[in-house]
Amino acid sequence: MTVTAKGEGSGAVLEVEDLNVEFPTEDGIVRAVRGAGYRLERGESLGIVGESGSGKSVTALAVMGLLPATARVRGSVRFDGGELLGLSDARLSEVRGSGIAMIFQDPMTSLNPVYTVGYQIAETLRRHHPGLKARAARDRAVDLLGRVGIPGPERRVDTYPHELSGGMRQRVVIAIAMANDPEVIIADEPTTALDVTVQAQILDALEAARAETGAALVLITHDLGVVAGHTDRVAVMYAGRIVETGSVGDIFYTPRMPYTLGLLGSMPRLDREEERLIPISGSPPSLLNLPPGCPFAPRCPLRREVCDRVEPPLRPSDHAHHLSACHFAGELVDARAEDLFAVAGADSELLARFADTAPGSDTEEDSA
Ligand code: ADP
Ligand code: MG
Repeated sequence: MTVTAKGEGSGAVLEVEDLNVEFPTEDGIVRAVRGAGYRLERGESLGIVGESGSGKSVTALAVMGLLPATARVRGSVRFDGGELLGLSDARLSEVRGSGIAMIFQDPMTSLNPVYTVGYQIAETLRRHHPGLKARAARDRAVDLLGRVGIPGPERRVDTYPHELSGGMRQRVVIAIAMANDPEVIIADEPTTALDVTVQAQILDALEAARAETGAALVLITHDLGVVAGHTDRVAVMYAGRIVETGSVGDIFYTPRMPYTLGLLGSMPRLDREEERLIPISGSPPSLLNLPPGCPFAPRCPLRREVCDRVEPPLRPSDHAHHLSACHFAGELVDARAEDLFAVAGADSELLARFADTAPGSDTEEDSA
């Protein structure tokens, strides 16, 4: 037997490499994703975090082959070692059926309003197990509804999506993903539309889905707090690129990109003495006519002249698996969000050190 391409040479189940997505629009070309990449080992979980507009959803849709036809996509997306970019719609929908399941922010995107939830789960099961009897499929549907935390699953199995709350619907979507027995689950802001107490339960339901199927998880969120207890690794996205990636510990305790520090500072945390959030001023750049240099520079307290000229590459910072895209990553050792993004006039050694070499005083902060 010859070696097959399946998983050849690596344990990666999903590899996204140098992904570029452009949308031609009336105003010009929107460069939504600019050389993004990640690698997901079997069963592993990766959080993708960044403010709205950073290219998280477009990256996910490119992986799933769900972008509008006008999108121009370059790069590589390999699932189980096989290239997905350029596959026919028929082949891609096979992959979507059983290889990679996607969970969207709005569960109604995935549910059919005219069928009961039990019917929709049973149909999915029977697509994968053609011999499965109706009774057994229904029993399994009840079992899956229980596993995702739906109380009274024997009763709920016969309800229609509109009879359920948003949180319950999202659990049904996760149960359907489980019924597909996928190798990868991509969840795009699965809790964003829900209130905080329900969010935690949905994340637990996702954990249950992983435990049951052994699937790897890509958890996309604008909220760094969501990934903390639920993923092994984190990739931070900004302006269409991954600007920092590492283990959850790397990202939370030794961030090496000012943007990551900014996200950490603007996250509510119980371990901080004064419960004060430090917002990053400004907003992400338009991806239409992006100027040269680091896209975060206009908002960055550490901006120096080089930042406006050269976009920093993503490269190893303190170890081989912790990468960051900042010219001054090395200067961020022990930096805290409040050292960088605190209110104007804050006494910060780090900022003082940078002020000596900064080009004028054209940072976002007014001098006090
Ligand atoms: P995120 O999910 O991180 O909030 P998105 O991936 O949805 O961000 O969007 C990234 C960028 O791509 C945004 O600037 C958005 O406006 C743009 N974009 C997304 N879809 C389209 C489209 N169909 N046509 C033009 N621009 C788009
Ligand atoms: Mg999105």
